[in-house]
Amino acid sequence: MHIIECKDVSKKYGTVEVLKGLSCNFEQGKHYVIQGASGSGKSTLLYIMGGLDSPTSGQVLWQNEDYSNWNDDRMAKLRNRDIGFIFQFHYLLPTMSIRENIYLPQKIAESGDANSSRIMSHTEIEAIAKKLGIESLFDRYPTELSGGERQRVNLLRAISMRPRVLLCDEPTGNLDSHNSKIVTEILHELAFEFKATLIVITHSEEVAATFHQSTRLHMKDGTFV
Ligand code: ADP
Ligand code: MG
Repeated sequence: MHIIECKDVSKKYGTVEVLKGLSCNFEQGKHYVIQGASGSGKSTLLYIMGGLDSPTSGQVLWQNEDYSNWNDDRMAKLRNRDIGFIFQFHYLLPTMSIRENIYLPQKIAESGDANSSRIMSHTEIEAIAKKLGIESLFDRYPTELSGGERQRVNLLRAISMRPRVLLCDEPTGNLDSHNSKIVTEILHELAFEFKATLIVITHSEEVAATFHQSTRLHMKDGTFV
């Protein structure tokens, strides 16, 4: 079963074609690493797969359904529950504490009709926070954290709903080797535990090698090679 499929996806910014008729599919529960030089279109592809941007032409399918037919509400629900985003640049909300940031997806889900069985309990969240070494930061605000700490908070928030797909853009980019290892281990462990599809972008061979059970894909100039 393909959880996400891209069919002949192109993306243009003005006259520049960043993605050039790219096709790929990702199976439920499998792990993938997408490698490629800076500027090859990796982040653009990830944004499009996560429904944060739309292709200029071509289709993105979630379990065989074309995103382009979905309304905003359905798309927002997908992003809230089924997709976890871990981006290079964190998107923590500056006016909320770390605790509020971490529990924000759950709060949004509670106001809808979420399937609560996938939502992580406070105990689970605290246990992972400990592993990540961020358990003492919950009462602080994003500006009071280092880049590496924010990235780990971001990871915790992204997995707090046990998403079906984890989209990670250079997830260890701001981290020292110690924290890099912890983040990689947690991503592996949790992706296996809740059978998430893990898609990790990296330009680094070293990082790619740590995701040893992954299918490797290589991007060059807006397409897979
Ligand atoms: P990668 O993640 O592989 O480094 P990106 O997907 O970020 O590559 O970018 C691919 C190309 O698209 C780059 O040349 C970048 O400058 C361009 N690009 C990305 N986003 C935009 C945008 N919003 N407007 C114009 N050009 C963009
Ligand atoms: Mg990028």
